[in-house]
Amino acid sequence: MIKIAIAGAAGRMGRHLVQACAESKNMTLKQAIERSDNALLGSDAGIVAGIEVQNVLITDALDAEEFDILIDFTHPDVTANHVDYCLQHNRKMVIGTTGCDETLEQKMREAAESIAIMYAPNMSVGVNLCFQLLKTAATVLGDTVDIEIIEAHHRHKVDAPSGTALKMGQVIAESLGRDLDSCAVYGREGQIGPRKRQTIGFETIRAGDIVGEHTVLFAGEGERIEITHKASSRMTFANGAIRASHWISQKDRGLYSMQDVLGLQ
Ligand code: NAD
Repeated sequence: MIKIAIAGAAGRMGRHLVQACAESKNMTLKQAIERSDNALLGSDAGIVAGIEVQNVLITDALDAEEFDILIDFTHPDVTANHVDYCLQHNRKMVIGTTGCDETLEQKMREAAESIAIMYAPNMSVGVNLCFQLLKTAATVLGDTVDIEIIEAHHRHKVDAPSGTALKMGQVIAESLGRDLDSCAVYGREGQIGPRKRQTIGFETIRAGDIVGEHTVLFAGEGERIEITHKASSRMTFANGAIRASHWISQKDRGLYSMQDVLGLQ
């Protein structure tokens, strides 16, 4: 059995990860971690997740003796500390945290010279298939269309645009030989003038309990293609993280994406 620790176990994703881990035949939940002021410390992770008792109490400290793989869906600052911890103790990681900056991504790359890390801003199989569809659409349509990315998430999400929307932008920009940093336009207001063809636009919606929706428009003269993904349950991300954990259990070192896990690379 692969021994799993979940960071952020009482969070929205953490609860689904506990459930997905419990439903997996070859994973066993050994640690459930939360921040030290969380009111649910000491509670059983299964009860917090709304499933049967798992006999794993939520604590505020990792214990490397207990787990093989840390699944981390928390916050970039927390994830950065966990990368240091797993590097120091030679443990593998599956990282779903979004909003990670270049410094943290560089830390992951350096750590991955010694340990195996799977890092993906979106672990749904459908979204990762969409990345492939976007590559194809961008390559075929090229500069003949305007490209806009629209994403919608629940009101509690703290980063914008979503990590998935940014990844979609990167995939498209790479396919077109553009630099996303210089061609991205984030929201528009006022006298903005006509649209420049080379730009890739991002629009963000934050409302209610939307789990996660992404649409990419490829709009030309006389026709428009829309590639849309809608997540209706966080279990899609949690099951992806479990699939990734199983996959990375066979790796000794390296930084991998969900595209690697799914064999889409
Ligand atoms: P959330 O706020 O509900 O959960 C985060 C949890 O982390 C909280 O319970 C918080 O108390 C806990 N936490 C904070 N500090 C901690 C610490 N030091 N140690 C352990 N736990 C700590 O947020 P969420 O909606 O579950 O999302 C978490 C992250 O996952 C976000 O970055 C989100 O964008 C990302 N996310 C990724 C995917 C994906 O597929 N990769 C899917 C959904 C969400």
